[in-house]
Amino acid sequence: MNISVIGTGYVGLVTGTCLAEMGNTVICVDNDQTKLQKLQSGKVTIYEPGLEILFHRNIEKERLTFTDDLNHAVNETDIIFLCLPTPQDEDGSADLKHILGAVGDIAQILKDSNDYKILIDKSTVPVGTAKKVEDILNDFNVTNCDVASNPEFLREGYAVEDFMKPDRIVIGSESKKALEVLRKLYEPFVRQGNPIHEMDTASAEVTKYAANSYLAMRITYMNQLANFCEQVGADVDLVRKGMGSDTRIGKRFLFPGIGYGGSCFPKDVNALIKTSQDNGYEISLLRLVDQINKDQKLILIDKLKSYFGNDLSGKTFAVWGLAFKPNTDDMREAPSIYIINELLKHHAGIKAFDPAAIENSKFYFDDKITYANNIYDAAKDCDALLILTEWNEFRNPDFSKLSAQLKNKVIFDGRNLFDIDQMKNQGFDYISIGRQPVLNGKKIQV
Ligand code: NAD
Repeated sequence: MNISVIGTGYVGLVTGTCLAEMGNTVICVDNDQTKLQKLQSGKVTIYEPGLEILFHRNIEKERLTFTDDLNHAVNETDIIFLCLPTPQDEDGSADLKHILGAVGDIAQILKDSNDYKILIDKSTVPVGTAKKVEDILNDFNVTNCDVASNPEFLREGYAVEDFMKPDRIVIGSESKKALEVLRKLYEPFVRQGNPIHEMDTASAEVTKYAANSYLAMRITYMNQLANFCEQVGADVDLVRKGMGSDTRIGKRFLFPGIGYGGSCFPKDVNALIKTSQDNGYEISLLRLVDQINKDQKLILIDKLKSYFGNDLSGKTFAVWGLAFKPNTDDMREAPSIYIINELLKHHAGIKAFDPAAIENSKFYFDDKITYANNIYDAAKDCDALLILTEWNEFRNPDFSKLSAQLKNKVIFDGRNLFDIDQMKNQGFDYISIGRQPVLNGKKIQV
């Protein structure tokens, strides 16, 4: 099939590459010239495990190309995916200017065409967006174009795996023909039997927000439970295992930490709150989720103050992990941004290491923090170590090497990477989330 993908960010680049890998011919469009030049010269613009090999293979086979020429892409293809940003607007809603702007441009191109096209929204958009897209097409008298909503559920860090072997595909459309074409397109991805759910566009649009907000709520519940466990002398890791073995609950997404971040959960929770308000029935539960998550992002600051006192000025902290989660270079809404900015406000110094996100981090912090080449360099002469992302390479450090680097043997672990008994044996003060702190004689309430 001939496909265009408009927007080549985390979703668009993975979508375009994976669709090409299944033998389709894909034209990717982006209006960011710097990004486009990199892609055209064969450079992958995001860190995503497994992407590079597929990217090069499909460029070589001439199934994957990149352009800023929307006209060419739309005219040459039958299936047009919109993978454009839907950032949070000031009032919490999803800002649709990129989507509706692009639809206007596409409608302008299609108004004189009789070829059948399907315009598919893969971006996360509020319920009613497909209807707005149809209205724009009608305004331009576009007669032979169906609209579909096909929300994307990939996880950054596992995006290629998720796209190639999705748990499920959701396709919403009021057109039987569009549903049929999209089912054919996706069938090779679900050969093991995972479902393709066909539905109306409104239900497809709601499904994406429903899934993300549920996961955000689940994490938030665990975070509050973790804070409660600290108060009552319980260990949230044991509680997590105890509750997760219940098949009604399940084991995944029960790990407490320093709040959810990323380009999706925070904005999607807010967008669902706003859409629900606008439609006369507020999903009020989510307002609390959003607020609790904001507080949780700064929970390590409270712990640092309990340990060192309120004055953190002049201290230097080693930070392991900047990305909002492991296996990505994405820092959008990462807890690290909030924690580091708060420490900078307190005139503390930061020495950070991340396996993939250092380049992106410079956008947020300029030269206000320094960067190290590895985990041990980051720790050198620091007053404490803060762990903010659960990269695998942080899980099994050489503790004696680490303790030789740090000024004080103290770790604040926002991701519960280490075993409590192990830390007792290593002689570190170890403050984590939802578990009793390991304090070698220090008399404080953390
Ligand atoms: P992104 O910001 O990484 O990428 C968007 C791309 O669109 C950028 O390359 C930008 O230059 C390009 N762009 C903007 N306006 C354009 C235009 N008019 N023409 C051509 N290109 C244009 O965004 P993303 O993370 O890929 O997210 C895209 C959508 O998918 C969002 O709605 C997001 O919520 C949703 N989503 C994201 C993820 C994720 O993990 N990132 C997962 C599922 C769904």
